[in-house]
Amino acid sequence: MNYDVLVIGGGHAGVEAAVMARRLNLKVAIVTFSSDDIGVMSCNPAMGGLGKGHLIREIDAMGGVMGLASDLSGIQFRMLNRTRGEAVQGPRAQIDRNKYKSNISNIISSEGIDIIEDEVINILTSLVDNNKTIKGIETESIGKITCGSVILTTGTFLSGKIFMGQETWSAGRIGGSSSKKLVNFFKENNFSTFRLKTGTPARIRGDSIDFSKCTVQEGDNDPEPFSFMTKKLNVEQTPCFITHTNKKTHKIINESIFKSPLYNGSIQSKGPRYCPSIEDKIKKFVDRTRHQIFLEPETKCGQIIYPNGISTSLPKEVQLDFLKTIKGLEKAIIEKFGYAVEYECIESNEIKNTYETKKIKGLYLAGQINGTTGYEEAAAQGLLAGINAARSLSNQEEFVVERSEGYLGVLTSDIIKGGLVEPYRMFTSRAEYRLFLRADNADERLTDKAISLGIVEKSRKKEWNKKKEILLNTTKILKELKASPQIYQKAGLKINQDGKKRSAYDILGYKDGSWKLISGVWPELKKLILDKKIAKQIKVNSFYERYSQRYLSEIEDLNRDRGLKINFNKKFDDCSGLSNEVKEILNKHRPKSIGEARELPGMTPAAAAILLKYIKK
Ligand code: FAD
Repeated sequence: MNYDVLVIGGGHAGVEAAVMARRLNLKVAIVTFSSDDIGVMSCNPAMGGLGKGHLIREIDAMGGVMGLASDLSGIQFRMLNRTRGEAVQGPRAQIDRNKYKSNISNIISSEGIDIIEDEVINILTSLVDNNKTIKGIETESIGKITCGSVILTTGTFLSGKIFMGQETWSAGRIGGSSSKKLVNFFKENNFSTFRLKTGTPARIRGDSIDFSKCTVQEGDNDPEPFSFMTKKLNVEQTPCFITHTNKKTHKIINESIFKSPLYNGSIQSKGPRYCPSIEDKIKKFVDRTRHQIFLEPETKCGQIIYPNGISTSLPKEVQLDFLKTIKGLEKAIIEKFGYAVEYECIESNEIKNTYETKKIKGLYLAGQINGTTGYEEAAAQGLLAGINAARSLSNQEEFVVERSEGYLGVLTSDIIKGGLVEPYRMFTSRAEYRLFLRADNADERLTDKAISLGIVEKSRKKEWNKKKEILLNTTKILKELKASPQIYQKAGLKINQDGKKRSAYDILGYKDGSWKLISGVWPELKKLILDKKIAKQIKVNSFYERYSQRYLSEIEDLNRDRGLKINFNKKFDDCSGLSNEVKEILNKHRPKSIGEARELPGMTPAAAAILLKYIKK
C-alpha cells in the first residue's frame, strides 16, 4: 500500500487533517484502532463555547467539517455571553454524539478518504540529504505502508492508562486500546515527552433521573448555527437541566478522598484546570457548600445523561453513593462509571508553526498529543497540519495563520512555545486582537485564504463570494453617505453636536444606531434588500471599527514597553485582575521584564496588559 498522507487517528484532529489533505487532491487514509473511533466525542456531548466556538467558526470558514457536522447533530444551541459584546460571544451546542459520529463518517467517505483499521506500532524514516524523512508506518496486522507524510493525532491513546479507584488498565478511553508500542519511536528519536491527565464523569440513565427537582435550561429561541453554510437550523431544542452537589455529597467524597488516584499519589500528572474533577473542586474550594452540575442529554432521545461538572476517578461504589445525595439523582442508575486517563504528550516545542516536527521531515503532530485539551483545539491543529503536510508534498509554501488573523494563529503560536505544564485550552483572553477575531467575522478573515489554498468546496466559494460582494458594496455605499450631527439628531439619535460630519456606516455602529435610523436620513437605503444576518454583520463591523484605534494602541504599548523591568517587592498575587493560572505562572518563573513575562507559556496577552498597567502604577 502506498499513500501520499497517512493520518494516524480518526478523532477530531485526524478528521480535519485528512479532509484538508484530500481536498488538495492527495491519496489519503486514516489509520485507526477501529473505524468506530471516527468522530468519537470522548467526553462531554457538546461543541463550542467561549474561545472554542470561535475556533469552530474559523475551522468552518477554512472549509473544515466540525461546524457542519455539529449543525447536523446538535440538539440544543445557545450563544454564550449573548448580553455582552460580539467579540466575547461564543456559539455552543449540545450534540447527539451518535449522530455526530455518523455525520463525520459520512463526510469522510464522501471525501474519498480510505480507512485502515489497525494499530500503528512504528513510524518509518530514512535519511534524505542527511535529514530524517518519513518513509511510512508499520502497523500491527498489515505491516509496512509507505507514504509521503504522516500526521499523528493519537489523542489520549499514547501510553494511555485509565484509573477508576484502585482499578487501572491500559487504554486511551474506556472501551478503547492503548497505543503502547508507538511511544518507543519517540523515545528512540529523543523527543521530549511528558504525561498529562484528564477525566470524565459517570453516565446516568435518563429514566432514573427526577428532572422535576432540577432547574431547566432551555436553548435559544433563535438558534444560530456554527457553519456559515447552514442557512437555518432545523432543530427542536432539547432542554438541559441544572442540579447541585451539597454538604452530604462533599462529606462522602472527603471521607473517600484517599481512594481517589488523584489524591493517593497514583496520578502525578496535571489535568485541565478549567475542567477539574469533583475531588479537586471539593479539596480546593473548601468554603463552597455546593457545585453546579449540568445534566446534558447525550442523544436526542435522552436515554443517557452526561452530568457535566463532576468528573471523577473515585471507586465505583463511592461514585454511586455520592451521586445519590444529589437532588434529582436519588435513584440514579449508572450506565458507565467515571474515570481518569493519563497519557503521553510530546513537548510542543518539538513542532514548527506548520505542525511538522523539527526532527523528522514529513512527520506532523496535531491534537491532544501536543498537550492541548478539547475537540475544537484538536480539530484546529488537524486542519492546519493537514494543509501543511499536503502543501509540503507539492513543494508549496507553508501556510501559517498569524495571531492577528485568527484564533488558529493564537493556538499555534501559544503551543509551539512549548513548556505547557497543564492541558492547554482556548479562551478569548488568549488573543490580543480579540476585538477583531470574532466568531461572527471568521469568514471575512479566513475564507479568501482558504479559497486561494484550494481547500474550499465549490458551494462555499460561491456563497462566500456572493456575501463578500454585498458586504463590500453596502459598506462602501454607507461610508460615502455623510451628514451633520444635527441631521442625525433630527432622526432621533442622541449625538455630540460637534459639527463633525459622520457617515451612515459610522452611525450604524453606534449603540443606538440602526438600519431604521439611517434609512430615515437616507430613504434610498430602504431599497437595499439585505439578508438579516448580513445587515447585522455590517453593524457589528462598524461598532468594532470604532474601538480599533484604542485597542491597537494598547497592543502598541505592550510592544513598546517590552523592556520595562519588573523589579518590585510586591507579590504578583497582589495584582488584581490576573487569573490564578497567570499568577502561578508568574510566581513560578519570576520574569524580569514585561517582554519576558509575555513569552511565558500559558501567559495571556490580556494578562500582560494588566501586568503592564500595574507595574507602571
Ligand atoms: P482523539 O479524539 O482522542 O482521537 C485519537 C485517535 O487516535 C483515535 O481514533 C484512536 O483510535 C487513534 N489512535 C491512537 N493511537 C493509535 C495507534 N497507535 N494506531 C491507530 N490509531 C490510533 N476535552 C475537554 O475539552 N474537556 C474535558 O473535560 C475532556 N475530558 C476528557 C476526558 C476523557 C476521559 C477523555 C478520553 C478525553 C477528554 N477530553 C476532554 C479530551 C477530548 O476528548 C480530546 O481533546 C479530543 O478528543 C482530542 O482529539 P484528538 O483528535 O487529538 O484525539
